[in-house]
Amino acid sequence: MNITDEILEMIKQFETIIIHRHQRPDPDAIGSQAGLGEILKTSFPAKKILLAGETTDGLDFLAKMDSVTAKDYDGALAIIVDTADTPRIDGENYDLAKKWIKIDHHPNDQPYGDICYVNTDASSCSEMITDFYLQHQDELSLSDNGALLLYAGIVGDTGRFLYPGTTPETLRMAAALREFSFDAAALNRKLDSVPMKIAKLFGYVFENVTLDEFGAGVLMLDSDVMKKFDVVDAEVSSIVSLPGKIEEAQAWTIFVAQEDGTFRVHFRSKGPVINELAKLHHGGGHPMASGAKAKDVTETEEIYRQLQTIVRDFSTK
Ligand code: AMP
Repeated sequence: MNITDEILEMIKQFETIIIHRHQRPDPDAIGSQAGLGEILKTSFPAKKILLAGETTDGLDFLAKMDSVTAKDYDGALAIIVDTADTPRIDGENYDLAKKWIKIDHHPNDQPYGDICYVNTDASSCSEMITDFYLQHQDELSLSDNGALLLYAGIVGDTGRFLYPGTTPETLRMAAALREFSFDAAALNRKLDSVPMKIAKLFGYVFENVTLDEFGAGVLMLDSDVMKKFDVVDAEVSSIVSLPGKIEEAQAWTIFVAQEDGTFRVHFRSKGPVINELAKLHHGGGHPMASGAKAKDVTETEEIYRQLQTIVRDFSTK
């Protein structure tokens, strides 16, 4: 039995299955969570399938969450997708479930769950869920909406097939999903659109990002900038990849002021490995896309200096 057979066997044993994903979700978190939800609802109509966590403004066009109570976890199975470690799981009470399954594509820094299925070669968790469906097509079914959700997740985490995590397998999974009936062009357009105020912020990013001679970039969005553009943290995720458009940029960090005076830290890279640096600052993630936290401006300055060292070493090795 391979690990996806074990997952399917465990799913079959439970009447209630509650699917979680990480906090501050992106399209892959929602797509893999709600896409798996669609597969399970369509394949096992008698089971109770619930999506746990906050409904996120801006991504609620993909899926809305269910209201899940502690009682729902009695004798239930919890499946947690796209979430490397338990502190980042969105939604309470997952630990009350009888069994847990982790399905993820981040480095397995915290293995958890009765079954722990991690594939860091997958571009996205949605790619893994698509593969799970395709391996068990004889027993599972997928609706058009489920295919749309999984496709949205793959498109989101690969930057529309741009980032290095995009493999032949990614394209095979995406092609299988495109066989279903949904408007992929409209979905791509929706995922790529931003409100006017964010478009104005795009202008600020290109005006203000600075690069050193080796291509290490930095941008600070302090509370004044956030106020000036009338944006909150959850609205700025679409700017994080922008410095990558600049030819000279190798890796960059973006600091986003939080209400409590701390900073959320984003790292992106075209080559230098940045997730070890993220781990030094209460974060983690993929080798080319990570996140962390900084308690004050001094820590943001330290982070940029450390990034500069990594990029310089990479460029001069
Ligand atoms: P972000 O820059 O927030 O889009 O995050 C990029 C990647 O890093 C995602 O795969 C996240 O799951 C991961 N990540 C972001 N913040 C954290 C954190 N505080 N701890 C662990 N992983 C993180």
